[in-house]
Amino acid sequence: MKQIIVLATTNKGKTREFQKLLKDFPITIKNLADFGPIPEVVEDGETFDDNAYKKASFTARVLGYPAIADDSGICVEALDGAPGVYSARYAGENASDADNVKKMLKNLQNHENRKAAFKCVISIAVPTGAALTYEGDCKGVITYEPIGDNGFGYDPLFFYPEFNKTFAQLTIEEKGEVSHRGRAIKQITKEIDKILEWIDINMPKFQEVECKGDKL
Ligand code: IMP
Repeated sequence: MKQIIVLATTNKGKTREFQKLLKDFPITIKNLADFGPIPEVVEDGETFDDNAYKKASFTARVLGYPAIADDSGICVEALDGAPGVYSARYAGENASDADNVKKMLKNLQNHENRKAAFKCVISIAVPTGAALTYEGDCKGVITYEPIGDNGFGYDPLFFYPEFNKTFAQLTIEEKGEVSHRGRAIKQITKEIDKILEWIDINMPKFQEVECKGDKL
């Protein structure tokens, strides 16, 4: 029987990415849209780890299934690691990707050190709160202007020297091979048998209730 795992997101693109990478394993990936509305988790952790665990453990506890959640962002050396966990709202609470890109270029205006890294933490949790953690990162350099039309977020600013292109110039497949998220997911696929065994051991077990009532 396939193990149901809930991805703690309503994002269809992210769900498809996980489903595609885990398609050869005895797993059915569902996401939050497959269930009734549940309260949103406030991503106020200080690390990617905190936020990923918060999302995965809350979802597992509320829905009673094992859950998986990721948290990611970009860390820039000359900005002391910023924007980090604040990557999505770097230019403000409802900032667009374009706003964030503009703010990063402005803040790096006088910096020659353009080193940066994307980071991703994936947490797999069961309803008791126990969890496994996987990480991936990818090092690159921030460009002086946006280049490329693919991807999202900071992709047009993230130059990946090994491919001599920005992430926004790569196909989804090319990006998945080397990206922070792709690398974290690859760790999971490598250990999937162990993970499924761990889930089986750690999922709460329900006792069979015998019916011994008198026959009518
Ligand atoms: P999330 O935690 O995956 O939702 O990512 C938080 C933010 O980090 C996104 O809104 C983007 O701004 C940035 N980010 C994370 N991963 C990527 C990526 O692969 N490319 C570009 N930006 C990313």
